[in-house]
Amino acid sequence: MIDIYDLIEELFPICRSITGDGVRRTLELVKKRIPIQIHEVKSGTQCFDWTIPDEWNPREAWIKDPAGKKIADFAENNLHLLGYSIPFKGKISLDELRGHLYSDPGRPDAIPYNTSYYERRWGFCLSHRQLGSLAPGEYEVYIDTTLEPGSLTYADMLVKGKTEKEIFFSCYVCHPSMADDSISGVALCTALCDYLLKRSGNYYSYRFIFVPETIGAICYLARNGGEMKRNVYCGMTVTCVGDEVEFNYKRTRSGKHALDRIVENILKHSGEKYKVHDFFLPGSDERQYSSPGFKLETGSLMRSFYGLPNYHSSADNLDFVTRRGIEGSYEIYRRILEAVEADFKYLNKMPYCEPFLSKYKLYDTLGAQVGSGSDYKKKILSLLNYSDGEHSLIDVAEKSSSCISDLIALVKLLKEKNLLE
Ligand code: ZN
Repeated sequence: MIDIYDLIEELFPICRSITGDGVRRTLELVKKRIPIQIHEVKSGTQCFDWTIPDEWNPREAWIKDPAGKKIADFAENNLHLLGYSIPFKGKISLDELRGHLYSDPGRPDAIPYNTSYYERRWGFCLSHRQLGSLAPGEYEVYIDTTLEPGSLTYADMLVKGKTEKEIFFSCYVCHPSMADDSISGVALCTALCDYLLKRSGNYYSYRFIFVPETIGAICYLARNGGEMKRNVYCGMTVTCVGDEVEFNYKRTRSGKHALDRIVENILKHSGEKYKVHDFFLPGSDERQYSSPGFKLETGSLMRSFYGLPNYHSSADNLDFVTRRGIEGSYEIYRRILEAVEADFKYLNKMPYCEPFLSKYKLYDTLGAQVGSGSDYKKKILSLLNYSDGEHSLIDVAEKSSSCISDLIALVKLLKEKNLLE
């Protein structure tokens, strides 16, 4: 199995943006683990109402205060440089400099994350405390970046199953050094893809999408939306899954897909703290996948939620994201996958009254295994009763107040006993 936390640690220091070498380095690290295909789309390419912007590559950026001391050094923390800053070199007064500085008074110790993708400007981000401590005088500014025609980079991968019907997972590769927002999703998708590649007998096909947020998803849909519209059963956007705050599930646009019920069933029986939200705007790339032209049923299972003090700042770091957090999220995602793969309508092969369970050793085995004979019996009887070809496994789970993951094991057992098909 892929070490998810190791991957997060490797990805964390890279300065990413919606285009540029940071995205390429990120995708190369993913490609070392799973065989993704990397694509380049030229600047100026039209994607629906959007145009692929020029490519941005930062090399060095800092400010020297009147005493000659470097402050807001990009080499120290890449959040210091406003994303998509144009090159600039010169000496300016503090007053003039202030027009290019961004801080967040609500979080005085954190460097905020800011970008200016579609308006050409330069700037630096720094903590509000640091901003308040700047002495008057002349400041030297040095920004060595390029912003010129190039391309936008993204990657994808299809794990073929028995059917062309597909489930997609989408994550974004455009945030600089923040651990939970963006790269926890990249790492989780990589591990999930590796799991599916090794899992035998996948029923669904699985599409993994690694794109810069918004423009990348729009570009992806401009190229693959027709095929996805034909084949997609459901999908998920994956981000903010590495911390240890409660789970938050944002439902699909309809809120009625089997995926919604499966995720909620698994969370309910997981013992974890969680909240469920109806689909809302804005959010992440579920906005594009769920736009009225596509209406791909896209849920989003996160942990922390926008609005936490860590969000879009230097406080979203490797202290906030933990091995326990990301591995716990992976396990929940894996169980969701297993449940979607098993969510069929089964048929009781002995539908005339109940079978004599003792004859099939279903009493002893289960009483001993589960520890609660009556609960076990309830699940078996519910499975047999509702397996009439009309109820899916999630229906049975809801009707019997069972965790769908427990029922999967019982389906296997009843199939072995030739009681279910
Ligand atoms: Zn973000």
